[in-house]
Amino acid sequence: MNLGEFGFIEDLHKQFAINNPNEIGIGDDCAVFPKDDKNSYLVSSDLLCEDVHFSFNYTTWEDLGWKSIAVNLSDIAAMGAKAKYILISLAIPKNYFQSKGLNEFYKGVETICNKYNVSLMGGDTSASLKQLFISITVIGISKSNKILFRSGAKPGDFIYTTGYLGDSSYGLNLLINETENKNKDYFLNKHLKPIPRLIEMDYLKKTFNISSAIDLSDGLANDLHHIIKQSKVGADILWEQIPISEELKLNTKQSEIDYFTFRGGEDYEILFTSADKIPDTALKDFRTQLSCIGTINSNLGIVNLNQDNQHIQLKPEGFDHFRKE
Ligand code: ADP
Ligand code: MG
Repeated sequence: MNLGEFGFIEDLHKQFAINNPNEIGIGDDCAVFPKDDKNSYLVSSDLLCEDVHFSFNYTTWEDLGWKSIAVNLSDIAAMGAKAKYILISLAIPKNYFQSKGLNEFYKGVETICNKYNVSLMGGDTSASLKQLFISITVIGISKSNKILFRSGAKPGDFIYTTGYLGDSSYGLNLLINETENKNKDYFLNKHLKPIPRLIEMDYLKKTFNISSAIDLSDGLANDLHHIIKQSKVGADILWEQIPISEELKLNTKQSEIDYFTFRGGEDYEILFTSADKIPDTALKDFRTQLSCIGTINSNLGIVNLNQDNQHIQLKPEGFDHFRKE
């Protein structure tokens, strides 16, 4: 039976269950283990494969360097931690050594590391037969009692997301189909240079009581289900409140908007819950949108999407590497 990526991970979670209450293993955005009495390390790794996650038909080496780190920092932001260190492992086809590409890749890495005050501490280099493989590990630190998990949402909590959803996957769609569009640069930038929401989460965590969080890498429908499943709750979402950029509204039909916002991946925005009523303007100093998109209820495992007084059940369908088409 094909369980898909999420079924596979769920099985691993059961097989390698961790019994120490201070350690968190498989199942959240980062693994967690104690640093000292009060603080914990958070560790996450992501693998990017050429022609699966990126293609040199449309990305520059420098943007690839930025994005490889950004997607890892996003997992640290999702857990409300401070990113500190990264390790980079590369499997490189021989002919790529002859180009200036690798220097440019590390220029992109350097830019984002400087911006977020993260240090490159090591990694590994190997040859690859054909494609480039990039494996990044990121290490962060947080006060142990302030870490945000996927499992903390409670009935009555509000559901929030940073930023606009769907722009990144629409950008990928433009790249793959080589479609022209007057806002093309806007969409391509959203796809090729995502912003990890570290600064925003640091502020939100200090200012409000956040009960759970996840970063949106696999689409809102999938990632919201991770929160409700792990928190043993349900959710009501209001379609009208989903943050959709003017650019996306201008360029797409409603059905396409639904597809890109609910199922498209790689937004790298943070979806989180809080009992606090947080104003939409809370992140204006960072020029980041904040939207309250619904509420948590006790309707176990179910997400209701409400639009024009109609309710439909939003299924956990979004990006899954091993889904059968
Ligand atoms: P994210 O999208 O936030 O990067 P993933 O969906 O990749 O998260 O992973 C979810 C959880 O499963 C994480 O805790 C991750 O460490 C774990 N995981 C993913 N793949 C594997 C694997 N092959 N072996 C062990 N754990 C894994
Ligand atoms: Mg994540």
